[in-house]
Parts: sequence; structure tokens; C-alpha cells
Amino acid sequence: MKLLFLFLDGIGLGKDDPEINPFSRAQTPVLNGLIGGKPLTSLAAPFEDERTTLLALDASVGVKGPPQSATGQAMLLTGINIPAELGYHYGPKPNPDVAKYLDSATLFSKTVAAGKKTALLNAYPPRYFDGIDSGRRLYSAIPLALTNAGMPLLTHDDYFNGRALSADFTGEGWREFLGFPDAPLFDPYSAGVKLGEIASGYDFSLFEYWASDYAGHKQDMNWAVRQLEIIDGVLKGLLETWHDQDGLILLTSDHGNMENLSTRRHTPAQVPLLLFGDINIRREFQKDIRDLTGIAPAISKILELNQSI
Ligand SMILES: [Zn+2]
Repeated sequence: MKLLFLFLDGIGLGKDDPEINPFSRAQTPVLNGLIGGKPLTSLAAPFEDERTTLLALDASVGVKGPPQSATGQAMLLTGINIPAELGYHYGPKPNPDVAKYLDSATLFSKTVAAGKKTALLNAYPPRYFDGIDSGRRLYSAIPLALTNAGMPLLTHDDYFNGRALSADFTGEGWREFLGFPDAPLFDPYSAGVKLGEIASGYDFSLFEYWASDYAGHKQDMNWAVRQLEIIDGVLKGLLETWHDQDGLILLTSDHGNMENLSTRRHTPAQVPLLLFGDINIRREFQKDIRDLTGIAPAISKILELNQSI
């Protein structure tokens, strides 16, 4: 069994209100078609059919204040209620208290310990590594967990050779902002096909999309709508490439933000958990999931990873 984890930062299930919610405004026929013809808002969940499951999950996990990225992502990777243990939500980058949880016993380290193949499918540009090496930039939770598991981040070379994806899916950022005018470009559909092809080579792979959280902080409706329409094209390519017998695709988030552009802050909204794959496997996968802490144990179980390390 293989599992592809699509992580979209800062997307909650909001009101079906096109004034504030880009999910209500964007043209996303693929996504809406997968969840019963509705936009991805609180009205759409829960949902199940022969291809898709949608659940609404609490991201606040009983701790006051808006949920944040470092603790949220660390919970997704460990299954531990880190905000409850620390007494606060924290982010965007892990502080030393959060980072301790990412030293070991993450999904990445457990996959490595089980002798299985894992990767973070994002390609990181040279300036990212320069920032890390010089101390100007801190790892966010997901790349920190991966590198702590002894696995390398994928690079410029991996992107140019088709082994990794651009963080914006299309590669426009590599051309426009990162100084690589000859970087490969993908339309959203082709990026989805590529994602499926690359992910099929790993037991557990994760792709991190952060532009959704950024759009929420900027309160930029047009940009948010554009991001969602790109994601819709990616889903079409991905789901045409990845078949149920290949395993499970999981899409979730760490907290709400982009679904309510009336505020630039994170929201307490429930977050979507979308599952694509065989219905019996989806039902088994979701049965013990009550909030964000349930996802990592469910992944460990389906990938037959050691639950105790
Ligand atoms: Zn944020």
C-alpha cells in the first residue's frame, strides 16, 4: 500500500459565501464533482462515494487560540496532541519545544525505519539551502522532520530532471522569482500527472503547498481563486494517473485561513480531510480519526509502520 499526502497549508471548511470564501467563487469542477457537486465548504462534509471521502476535522484540539502551522504540522506528522502538551499553538516555524517532537517518531522517520521509501516531493531552490546554511532561514516543520529522518530535501537538479515538483505546481515561480528562465513549466493537469508518476515510486510521499496560507494572510481573493483553479487542474491529472490499486491519496491542512478572507488571521474552522482510493481502505483508514491527531496513526497503520517508535 502506498500513500500520497497532499498538504495544503491554511485551508478550512468555511461558509459557502462568495464574498469571503474563494472556495465558493473559484471554478473547481473537478473538486466539486468529487464531493457531490458542492464547493469545498462546511456544507459539503461529511461525504462518501465510490471514489472520495470528505470529513471535517477539528484543528484546535482543545487548546485555545487560533491553530498555528508548526504545532499543526507536527501533529499531522506524529499524531501527538502537541498543543495540549505544550499548552499553546505555535508557528509558523517550530520553536525548540515543537522541534523536539520532530526529532524522531515522525511519519518520515518511521517509514525509513521500516525500510520503505519516502520523500518530500517539493523541489527546493539553491537560495533556500543558502538560507538554511547561513542560519537566516529556519526549517518549517515538514522539512525539519524529513531531514531529521536522514532524508535529503529535493533540489533544483531534481526539478529539472523530473524527480520533484515546483511548490507552485506549474514552475512559474522558478522562472519569475527564482532566476531560472529555462525551468520546466507545467500546466496544472500535467503537474498532476507528474505528481502521480513521482509519488507512485514511494511508499509514503508528501507534497507541501503553502500558497493557500499565504493567500489567506494577504486576503487576496483573485490570487486565492487562481490558486484553487490550479489545484483543480492538478487533481484532474493526479486522479487520472493514480488508480485505486496504487494506494490512497490524502489531502488535508493544519488550520483554517484562506476560506475566510474577511480576516488575515488563521481561523478556528474545521479542516477538510479528503481521501481518494478504494472504499474499503478509506473506511478502515478513517474509522479512528476524530481530529488532526488521528491522521498519523492511521497512516502508520496502513503503511504497516511501527506504531511505538
Ligand atoms: Zn499562516
